[in-house]
Amino acid sequence: MRQSQLFGKTSKTAPSDDPSVNARLLERGGFVQKVMAGVYSYLPLGLRVLQKIENVVRQEMNAIGGQEIFMPSLHPKESWVTTGRWSGLDVLFKIKSRHGHEYALGPSHEEVVTPMARPIISSYKDLPFAVYQIQTKFRDEPRVKSGLLRGREFRMKDMYSFHADAADLNEFYERASAAYLKTFKRIGLDAIRTEATGGTFSEFSDEFQIEIPTGEDTIYICKNCEVGKNKEIFSERATCSRCKKNSWRASRGSEVGNIFKLKPKYASSFDLIFTDKAGKKQIVIMGCYGIGISRLMGVLVEKFHDEKGVIWPEIVAPFFIHLVSLDGGQERVGKFAEEIWRALQKQGHEVLYDDRELSPGTKLADSDLLGIPLRLVVSPRTVERESVEYKLRAGQKTQLEKERELSNYLSKL
Ligand code: ATP
Ligand code: MG
Repeated sequence: MRQSQLFGKTSKTAPSDDPSVNARLLERGGFVQKVMAGVYSYLPLGLRVLQKIENVVRQEMNAIGGQEIFMPSLHPKESWVTTGRWSGLDVLFKIKSRHGHEYALGPSHEEVVTPMARPIISSYKDLPFAVYQIQTKFRDEPRVKSGLLRGREFRMKDMYSFHADAADLNEFYERASAAYLKTFKRIGLDAIRTEATGGTFSEFSDEFQIEIPTGEDTIYICKNCEVGKNKEIFSERATCSRCKKNSWRASRGSEVGNIFKLKPKYASSFDLIFTDKAGKKQIVIMGCYGIGISRLMGVLVEKFHDEKGVIWPEIVAPFFIHLVSLDGGQERVGKFAEEIWRALQKQGHEVLYDDRELSPGTKLADSDLLGIPLRLVVSPRTVERESVEYKLRAGQKTQLEKERELSNYLSKL
């Protein structure tokens, strides 16, 4: 992609109304644009990051047998009345149409997925299964803050599993937990599985917390084994569920995922029953599993940045290579850069090519702001040596590399 054609512009000034690092850097970099409090547009660079996160999540959900579906955002009021959440869920956005009908904007999808499963489940042979979607959610949050960390419209992966008995749910729940830890690890984050109280209709839940100083949640982490407890359920005398010791450190976390074993509430509201092996009617046992995709993008920025800008982990970076041409008006330098750009594309690399006519200082500052993992600079100095200067965004060193050695070098990376 030529940067001169890229839809989106960097800016030197940060938004004045949101001091969070992720809001500042993502808006300055032209990754996202704020539409109103808690609502963002994703520009090409930001969407590429979001989609890369989604793809990792997708792979790991598929790997544990999750099947991707897509449910609507507009829900019938009746389903929410059926579960008691039309009046019981304070963050529910409600819509009244000009015809006098009422709808909910989906903050979560138990009210759609449970009735959806009814015509599909009749016998124990239809169980178990898990379905998931990646979708935009709406919640009338009292306070939206910290950029992508808490919005009124945000991106979520939500998975729902259906089982014949609690033992089967427990087994899948642990597999989902392992898949969550792996997902976060792959995008560069060490998540702490944190015991928490349940939501509206759940016995308890496990949150996946990322330690960041700006996290909303207070968590207590076992000093021996990195198991966490959320503040709400913590007591000084609590012992760690894994090592049984009692030594905790308090920390701040941002919850990027949350998994629940649901009570039979939803299944019984919608009469979700099956016939067991003995021919007896039983209520289906459900679990639900969320990942805050857009919050994750914000957390990544909170975690990986310096005073100059974002430092994206490679797997979610919008591009792998930032090719920056500092031609100083010299045609041969521009030509050299074009050549390298074409060669890199041929080799299948994802390259953002800064071909804009701007000062070297501005271009290098933009490059740091955007946080693309590898920067290749072409300038009069490098052309003389038939070389390219390269620098990893996460590192300090710059090095000259012969142009003809470039593909060798890149394949080693
Ligand atoms: P929180 O405790 O942060 O309010 P929650 O427990 O209500 O979240 P879930 O219903 O479990 O959230 O949603 C699954 C995931 O979606 C959360 O773990 C979080 O990462 C993300 N999420 C929830 N609310 C928001 C929001 N308002 N903005 C961005 N992400 C959110
Ligand atoms: Mg929560």
